[in-house]
Amino acid sequence: SDVTKLKWDKAPCRFCGTGCSVNVGVMDGKVVATHGDIKSPVNKGLNCIKGYFLSKIMYGKDRLTTPLLRMKNGKFDKEGDFTPITWDAAFDIMAEKTKQTLKEKGPTGIGMFGSGQWTVFEGYAASKLMKAGFRSNNIDPNARHCMASAVGGFMRTFGIDEPMGCYDDIEATDAMVLWGSNMAEMHPILWTRITDRRLSAPHVKVAVLSTFAHRSSDLADNSMIFTPQTDLAILNFIAHYIIKTNRVNKDFVNKHTNFRLGNTDIGYGLRPEHHLEKKAKNNGKTAGGSSPINFEQYAEFVSTYTAEYTSKLSGVPVDNLNALAELYADPKTKVCSFWTMGFNQHTRGVWANNLVYNIHLLTGKISTPGNSPFSLTGQPSACGTAREVGTFSHRLPADMVVNNKKHRDLSEKLWKIPTGTIPPKPGYHAVLQNRKLKDGELNFYWSMCNNNMQAAANLNEEAYPGYRNPKNFVVVSDPYPTVTAQAADLILPTAMWVEKEGVYGNAERRTQAWYQMVEAPEGAKSDLWQLVEFSKRFRIEEVWPKELLDKNPTYKGKSMYEVLYKNGQVNKFSINQVPTDRLNDEARHFGFYIQKGLFEEYASFGRGKAHDLADYDRYHEERGLRWPVVDGKETLRRFKEGSDPYVEAGRDFQFYGKKDGKAIIFALPYEPPAESPDAEFDMWLSTGRVLEHWHSGSMTQRVPELYKAVPDALVYMHPDDAKNRGMRRGDLVKIVSRRGEVQTRIETRGRNKPPKGLVYMPWFDASRLVNKVTLDATDPLSKQTDFKKCAVKVVKV
Ligand code: SF4
Repeated sequence: SDVTKLKWDKAPCRFCGTGCSVNVGVMDGKVVATHGDIKSPVNKGLNCIKGYFLSKIMYGKDRLTTPLLRMKNGKFDKEGDFTPITWDAAFDIMAEKTKQTLKEKGPTGIGMFGSGQWTVFEGYAASKLMKAGFRSNNIDPNARHCMASAVGGFMRTFGIDEPMGCYDDIEATDAMVLWGSNMAEMHPILWTRITDRRLSAPHVKVAVLSTFAHRSSDLADNSMIFTPQTDLAILNFIAHYIIKTNRVNKDFVNKHTNFRLGNTDIGYGLRPEHHLEKKAKNNGKTAGGSSPINFEQYAEFVSTYTAEYTSKLSGVPVDNLNALAELYADPKTKVCSFWTMGFNQHTRGVWANNLVYNIHLLTGKISTPGNSPFSLTGQPSACGTAREVGTFSHRLPADMVVNNKKHRDLSEKLWKIPTGTIPPKPGYHAVLQNRKLKDGELNFYWSMCNNNMQAAANLNEEAYPGYRNPKNFVVVSDPYPTVTAQAADLILPTAMWVEKEGVYGNAERRTQAWYQMVEAPEGAKSDLWQLVEFSKRFRIEEVWPKELLDKNPTYKGKSMYEVLYKNGQVNKFSINQVPTDRLNDEARHFGFYIQKGLFEEYASFGRGKAHDLADYDRYHEERGLRWPVVDGKETLRRFKEGSDPYVEAGRDFQFYGKKDGKAIIFALPYEPPAESPDAEFDMWLSTGRVLEHWHSGSMTQRVPELYKAVPDALVYMHPDDAKNRGMRRGDLVKIVSRRGEVQTRIETRGRNKPPKGLVYMPWFDASRLVNKVTLDATDPLSKQTDFKKCAVKVVKV
């Protein structure tokens, strides 16, 4: 082949929330190589193994190229075989089923599940289609499984979402603490930066807390293995230690914080028949409620968490606890805390987030170089799309929520739709969607850009029966026939990554854009194309009630497409603005620069409200910019005068998400998990990921090099636990819970080293669905599932 034909262009990596930039090599209409982008301030030319093999994710042998409908005798049949049909026929049956559902159930019978892999404009178009078009808030992203608790934590403590700091804090800090996070495998490029900092500055310390030892533990100066759920107690112990040793930053605390006692309601969102240990009892209090207290009351509250008590509860030796607390307490030590699923996939995930902010606020170690409580994300656009665009069932763009009249009014104004269009009640979140499908209440369901059947907890009892319920019509858009697609009624073949133009937002508020570089396989269409094209199938009279249209007759006779997308606003950028040497299948199809139109309309939600984005075209020139972008400049650290343009002069710090500019320090207790080991189910099970495979493995398992590196999900077990059960490494075993069982082989060596009493199994392997076993208990505030702990037994097959 003629390498002079190789052309390079930039794009963000589509795996993980780190947001590395890669150079993408295209030759003869095919992506043939990727390498780390030297111009990227995130990865500085490096990539992890997933980034290096990005070029191969689009070329799996079983790539879908035509819609597939379950059919028997020439027509749709829920029990029929997948049969190729045209896009027209696919939209016909989708429109028929949607209209039937609207007639029988109204908007609440319709649902959609998306993800933080949607581009910004795809998530935005989907949210508009559901909330403004179908008037259903039953749209949720798989980010609900990933960082809904982080969102809850930010909103409760600061009144505004997303991290205040940035990755640059790694190179400026003295200590890094990983809370239940294995960054060496899940955020490898950031881990490279952490390792570089630790090894090049001898005074720097790394502490790693986890329920089992893993690759990140290797670098730790202080590696702590704690009993699941007791991170809550450890966080309170640190607060107590800071107070007891008289190291509270009183000036900061007095000026910039308030103290509140949080309600301690119980109830983990299980179906009533699945309550295992407790009954929900909230004493009439609201789940997220709290009442004001003063510093002395807070100090008394945390004084229960002595080193001895916390050590007994958590299993972490007192010396290790004290060494950890000293990192936070010592005024000379700058500290970054990092967390992802360990905190977020937790029945008290929002509390865990609140509690780590407490210790940064007590010491004033926040929003300054090297001092950063940092919530990491798993999806490439978990922040940019799922959170900022507002694809959650309770959210609207720019941190607004559907149950706030002013927020709905503003969204309706910016969307140019009548007042009263957006329903005020939050829709069904991820776990509830599966239950409503099973119960036959959600009858038209469209899943895009995710693999929920593999990702959902307790999938045997909830998700799978829901998809197969004869009352429901389930559509799955995916490039590959995933476990989720195979459970559906209709599969739509989807374009991926650089087969379309896109924008992602990473964990440090960095918005990055890329151009379409190659054509998708013939027949595959982007999610954006699918969403917008589908909207043409509805006249507005078919989706909005008569009363709304009678009050707003100008909308009568229009199609949903005209109201939502071809509305004089989204279509205001001409196709001529697409650079002449660029592909753009969607713009060509719709006849205007649809991505730019959607982006600019969306950006109008946040401009002037501390969520400012730059003009669309600028992102094609930059390796991303961290919002708020004001006067053309990005913001490295929010809430600090001199760094954040929204902080008023003379305030020093201003947590402007709260009216009085003060963040909240919450008194919140340790609380036991929803399910713990007992005589029958005698071990903890924790689930998670591996470096080589991204999430459900639907893309990375199709890359031969990555598949061969880690072909199967094994269960990691302590050698003594295996021996005591008469088992050996490599034995075939069953992991059994109250909900189901899964077979795999035992691994007693290697990268993960669980303590006695705990097993760990990754969830990437479609042939070993560990989520048949997991518990669908959720945090009562964030509705995020706890995948990190349930009770199982391991038996030999
Ligand atoms: Fe991609 Fe994440 Fe690896 Fe960076 S660290 S190359 S974003 S998978």
